[in-house]
Amino acid sequence: MHGLDTKIETFFKLQKPQLAALKKLGIFSVQDALLYFPVRYLDFSKTQNLKDIKAGENVTVKTTIKSITGRFSFRGRISLAEAIVSDDTGSIKVVWFNQGYLAKSLKKGDEIFLAGAPEPYKGKLQFTNPIYEKVSDFPVHTSRLVPVYRLKNGLYPKTFRNLIKACLPLKDSLDEILPMETLEQHGLPRLSQTVGFSHFPESPEQAEAAKKRLAFEEIFINQLAAHKTRLILQKKKAHAIGFDQNLAKEFLHRLPFELTPGQKKAAWEILQDLQKNMPMNRLLEGDVGSGKTLVALMAAVQASAKGFQAVFLAPTEILAKQHFETAKKVVMEPKSLNFNTRCILLTQGYSIVNNKPIQKPRLREEIKTGMPGLYFGTHALLQKTVKFKKLALVIIDEQHRWGVEQRAKLIQSQNRVPHLLSLSATPIPRTLKLAMFGELDISQIKTKPKDRKPINTRLVEPDGRAKAYQFLSEQISLGRQAFVITPLIEESDVLGVKAAKLELAALQKTFPGLKIGLLHGKMKSKEKEAAMADFLANRTQILVATSVVEVGVDVPNASVMVIEGAERFGLSQLHQFRGRVGRAEHQSYCLLFTSNEKAESRNRLETFSKISDGFELAEADLKSRGFGELYGQTQAGWNLKYFDPAYLSLVEPAKQAAMGLLKENFDLERHPELNFRIKDKIIHFE
Ligand code: ADP
Ligand code: MG
Repeated sequence: MHGLDTKIETFFKLQKPQLAALKKLGIFSVQDALLYFPVRYLDFSKTQNLKDIKAGENVTVKTTIKSITGRFSFRGRISLAEAIVSDDTGSIKVVWFNQGYLAKSLKKGDEIFLAGAPEPYKGKLQFTNPIYEKVSDFPVHTSRLVPVYRLKNGLYPKTFRNLIKACLPLKDSLDEILPMETLEQHGLPRLSQTVGFSHFPESPEQAEAAKKRLAFEEIFINQLAAHKTRLILQKKKAHAIGFDQNLAKEFLHRLPFELTPGQKKAAWEILQDLQKNMPMNRLLEGDVGSGKTLVALMAAVQASAKGFQAVFLAPTEILAKQHFETAKKVVMEPKSLNFNTRCILLTQGYSIVNNKPIQKPRLREEIKTGMPGLYFGTHALLQKTVKFKKLALVIIDEQHRWGVEQRAKLIQSQNRVPHLLSLSATPIPRTLKLAMFGELDISQIKTKPKDRKPINTRLVEPDGRAKAYQFLSEQISLGRQAFVITPLIEESDVLGVKAAKLELAALQKTFPGLKIGLLHGKMKSKEKEAAMADFLANRTQILVATSVVEVGVDVPNASVMVIEGAERFGLSQLHQFRGRVGRAEHQSYCLLFTSNEKAESRNRLETFSKISDGFELAEADLKSRGFGELYGQTQAGWNLKYFDPAYLSLVEPAKQAAMGLLKENFDLERHPELNFRIKDKIIHFE
């Protein structure tokens, strides 16, 4: 007897490559297949007579084959099948390219559904590569909303749909994973129903109901994981870090400027949390350039002064080094009684305490014995061999770049749990935060430093390049500097590096008198550092870079950001680039070079050039396109597949339901499926 856990290959006849492709999708059993949902639908639900069909409109027709032949075309390279089909109202020509075999599998007199959009060819309508299917009572590929799945090479859509159809009768034995009352309360279909609705909806309403239920489930699972984490954390103990007011004063005194009101408020909230022995779990949010680093440092200094270790994690080595230098500037120069703070840098390429390099094994030994200080670094700090003895505070910069597991690593195997502070400039629309970060407290820096002017952002047409370069050279003669970002090239790093080198050569020709630097991800640490140092000291006036400078890099004297191939970048990424300039009092500019004629991508760039505030930008982006791009793949651990802004009203109910369930059954031992689903999302402490 077949059941939900029957292996897919015993259930359905599959060739080896097909099976391999299924496994790549995570489909091993019948249940896996049923829970692999379509990403969208093709609407072939309209069935029409041949006399009524119109060019370019999707339709299904029910026809009889009058004739069908196969032949080769284009000097014998392409096999094709040509047919004439008809119904009571007319007839039409059909061509299938690359599918000459159809002339054998379909014959004159067969009744078939054809689904597609006819186009005129030589004065008459014709179907080219329509989907076909023998007429039946339960059409799967035509005559309905036809599901479209994300598949891997080796799997054809038709095969996959047939597979799902074969599995479908078993859907009724799927266990419901959401509380029944909750489903009823919100008018959501049960899981078994959802599976039917999603794969083979009989109406758009059914498809929508399924999507809504899946979105709810997704938020529910997120909320469940978030609140469970929160509750576990609340039971753990952290080191209470007493507040040293003199130290805070001294710190502020050493800055060349006053903190903004937003920074002060955030710092105050964080310092309050640190004094408790309940672990802090706080997100510090602020647009690029709002000055998050110093707020975080202010907290770290308090921890280190009390003899603890504070870790400041950055996603790239450049950034880790930069934070390290910033910290040293504030706490070490000039020497003072209040600061006996050590600054440590540990990355792949560096191992430094204050100004002295140190052997890595020695440093690891010091870490193990509890040497207090501010530790800056990358993933290297998360390695198993690095064992902090007195870890009291972990700061995670550019939080969206890190996965939950990575954060968890630092927290593991500690009798005390460190306080956690995540920094993020990813503008998360207010409306979404609850759905994504149920377990976090949030501090926001809403103000920017006083002297900042909005960055003047413009789209540059291909014929505007000369004028733009003229402008760039004027800025440089005023003493400013410029970044030039080369286009995003997805296929490989190698191509990206090549593009950057070509750009450098081209610019050097245009600006023979200027020094131009290069920065890309394939350079060694020392080379990157040299390139950054040259740019910081204005020994190079232009820095050509791949997207490695996207996050965090701080060069206050730079006032022009040129982005080549701007249409290739997402809005949040563009905003990050733009945030590299305008970090001091100089009026700054962002020039978007694009050759893309598509109205949609132009509109997007126009929107971007009009809105300078990251949060406003995110709201605008969210309204216009959902958040696939913003949060799709980048938000590790928070991959929202079904949720979209239309479902915001589900967030609060999902949260209530999740908290209710945890109250009754914290360990979820009565809900093994839920436990399984949240296991990668909660931080484990043992
Ligand atoms: P982000 O929030 O993007 O990480 P940073 O912390 O890198 O921003 O700060 C951006 C720049 O602003 C830095 O050069 C920093 O020294 C400067 N800065 C930070 N706070 C202030 C302030 N209150 N007034 C003026 N400049 C500031
Ligand atoms: Mg930063």
